[in-house]
Amino acid sequence: MRRLLLTLAALLCTAAVNAATPWQQIYQPISGAPQSIGSFANGCIVGAQQLPLNSPDYQVMRQDQHRYFGHPDLIAFIQRLSNQVHQLQLGQVLIGDMGMAAGGRFSSGHASHQTGLDVDIWLQLPRNRWTAQQLLKPQPLDLVAPDGKQVVARHWQPQIDSLIKLAAKDDEVTRIFVNPAIKKQLCADAGSDRGWLNKVRPWFAHRAHMHVRLRCPPGSLECQDQPAPPPGDGCGAELESWFLPKQPGTTAPVKKEPPPLPASCQALLDNHLL
Ligand SMILES: [Zn+2]
Repeated sequence: MRRLLLTLAALLCTAAVNAATPWQQIYQPISGAPQSIGSFANGCIVGAQQLPLNSPDYQVMRQDQHRYFGHPDLIAFIQRLSNQVHQLQLGQVLIGDMGMAAGGRFSSGHASHQTGLDVDIWLQLPRNRWTAQQLLKPQPLDLVAPDGKQVVARHWQPQIDSLIKLAAKDDEVTRIFVNPAIKKQLCADAGSDRGWLNKVRPWFAHRAHMHVRLRCPPGSLECQDQPAPPPGDGCGAELESWFLPKQPGTTAPVKKEPPPLPASCQALLDNHLL
């Protein structure tokens, strides 16, 4: 009996973390002029586009998740970045989660990626294309040492510096999240060209991928941008604070109940889930 209760409790916990969201029931983009609505962690998108799944410059992982939609600006960014990487012969760009057809909250994983302006790009650039099986169940390469203080030297390639730098130098990118140990390595490798480091923000996890966020598109009047990061390359005291012994309140934020949806997103759900 006790065992049954424990199993039940475990199941309930999993259900809470992986709760289905109504957004998963929308399989096609909402037609209309492209509009990112709300904030990155509480929003939706009208007029999303699907990233073309076949490209000589990039490969799309976990296609069974259908998280390959985004604002046309995001599609254009991915194509632009991958093309630059291809021209420089750095390898194949691996695309992870973007957003769902109408954006909104995923059932599992991150809270953001809701407005079609976020993309996870893996921090490995294979020379050869991955097979369909590898793409479906990709194995992340953990770049961070177990103590979290530095990258694993044998996994760190100069191409990774170049990939993050190319993304950060893109005018439409406002933030890139990576593990603090990865930011530390970028700071050490950067030399005198350091302005782009401002956009690269240390954050929890992100040991095998970078999360790239674009600015709100000009026509998206209900899209909420974040304030710009503090000035400077962020390589000094701010970064060091991540490596100090944990103070209360410095652990990863606890998942809270999602806030109410922006009215336009609620209306969109009401219209499409009859
Ligand atoms: Zn992400």
